[in-house]
Amino acid sequence: MMRIVLLGAPGSGKGTQAQRLQAKFAVPQVSSGDLLRNAVARRTELGLKAAAAMEAGQLVSDEIVLGLIRERLRQPDAKDGFILDGFPRNSDQATALSKLLEEIGQPLQTVLLMDVKTNSLIHRIAGRRVCRSCGKVFNISHLPEGGKCDNCGGELYQRPDDKEEVIAKRLEVYQSQTKPLIEHYKQLGLLKVIKGEGALDDVTKRMETALAPAPAEAPTKKVAKPAAVKEAPAAAPAKPAAPAKKKASKKKAATKKAAKKQAAAKTKAVPVKVTKKKASKKKAATKAVKKAAQKVAKKSAKKAPAKKKVAAKKGVKKSAKKAAKKKAAKKK
Ligand code: ADP
Repeated sequence: MMRIVLLGAPGSGKGTQAQRLQAKFAVPQVSSGDLLRNAVARRTELGLKAAAAMEAGQLVSDEIVLGLIRERLRQPDAKDGFILDGFPRNSDQATALSKLLEEIGQPLQTVLLMDVKTNSLIHRIAGRRVCRSCGKVFNISHLPEGGKCDNCGGELYQRPDDKEEVIAKRLEVYQSQTKPLIEHYKQLGLLKVIKGEGALDDVTKRMETALAPAPAEAPTKKVAKPAAVKEAPAAAPAKPAAPAKKKASKKKAATKKAAKKQAAAKTKAVPVKVTKKKASKKKAATKAVKKAAQKVAKKSAKKAPAKKKVAAKKGVKKSAKKAAKKKAAKKK
């Protein structure tokens, strides 16, 4: 029994890891992106409505996505759990999800945040190629011999929303709409952060470790709620409200606050507050992302994938470094 959400930016590896976890834990991956792409490919009414938003890197309307998710979670194979990948993506969707899960008596257990640096994200997305037949994902820096899928021999293609002009938009949408969910789930005590870089197997192992019950709690605890109370104090210092006296009383106050928020969040998502400082930081980050994405995408488009893998990789690294430098300079 496992009911989890994978949270993370585009390119953070949610889909790849969800596929691995579903095999291990025998619960289905429920990917809103895949459900949408499927609807688009079948040219259903919903699919036709969704296609334009997807190609522009925007979110598809909550109504459409929710309909697909609701239908999917009610299928028999999701009865004993699920791995949600790409949903929820904004605070309204998070609210809708908690309502839906309440209705079907399957509250969330854990939210795993795939933490990956922006430069790696850009590199991964711009270089991503997908098999048209089986969906296997590759990167131009490690293409199979002959440029065909090594699983089924299918043709590899670039997703329309992985193109240069769309990448920056998707990362921007993540920053503004999805990232606030990190705080939301932190407040609920459901969040665990996974370092999403390094070898695929290592990332999977980290996720498995995070999903394993804590040794001391293993025999009895099934629900993540007590952890909510424990984890909440870590999030509390960010709020100006708690004047620190003694650690214990601070902890108590934060715990109370977290419990209150948790109760409130059952019916309403935690509202997103963006301070001025945060907003300008976000702006700078978005600019840097835009520039880097354009550079990376241009380079990967120019280089013939099979021939100039190494050069493409170098180009990506260079532009990523430049972007990071610029970002740092701007911060100053
Ligand atoms: P990625 O996580 O790499 O951006 P996905 O396959 O999850 O890719 O999503 C592809 C596109 O599908 C998104 O850019 C968006 O347009 C749409 N989409 C996926 N999930 C949602 C969602 N929960 N709400 C709205 N739109 C979504």
